[in-house]
Amino acid sequence: MQFSKLRLNGFKSFVDPTDLVIADGLTGVVGPNGCGKSNLLEALRWVMGETRAKAMRGGGMEDVIFAGASSRPARNFAEVVLTIDNSDRLAPPGFNDQDTLEIVRRITRDAGSAYKANGKDVRAKDVQMLFADASTGAHSPALVRQGQISELINAKPKNRRRVLEEAAGISGLYQRRHEAELK
Ligand code: ATP
Ligand code: MG
Repeated sequence: MQFSKLRLNGFKSFVDPTDLVIADGLTGVVGPNGCGKSNLLEALRWVMGETRAKAMRGGGMEDVIFAGASSRPARNFAEVVLTIDNSDRLAPPGFNDQDTLEIVRRITRDAGSAYKANGKDVRAKDVQMLFADASTGAHSPALVRQGQISELINAKPKNRRRVLEEAAGISGLYQRRHEAELK
């Protein structure tokens, strides 16, 4: 599985539909302060099921919706589409029926978030699990926030182990065990 495109619509500063093509190899994003580079990474984390508003630098989840500017009114929804090349057919069961996997998350004011996978309604949990199994996802160590390296160096052994488990791709199993124990 490989990310191939990220589309933002009404997400934070990206009020008009914007595509970020993720090619093979290294993709760099450059631009002046405040142009939206960090917003792009947050969009990626958000579409993979991020539920912590603080991790999105907001007070509430609806803060990801374009809030308006002097020349543009605020929007009522935000949508991010992540296109994944699944030609290696490594997507987990239930997501593995096509060469391309498209995950959509949309938030509407006062109506919360909804997710789709290849056009079908899915639960947040399904999307989070999909990416946890693929060793990526909202909490993945593959996404490195500012200050995170020093956090890791100073972390307690138990928390550092969690990062290693996530990298090893077993955090989805822990999530399932936790759910099984609740039942
Ligand atoms: P730096 O180089 O300083 O790290 P950056 O390119 O990472 O900058 P971001 O932090 O991604 O920039 O973008 C910040 C911009 O996004 C600010 O101008 C902020 O006003 C805008 N922004 C954030 N949330 C919203 C929102 N909900 N609606 C409209 N604009 C928003
Ligand atoms: Mg930034």
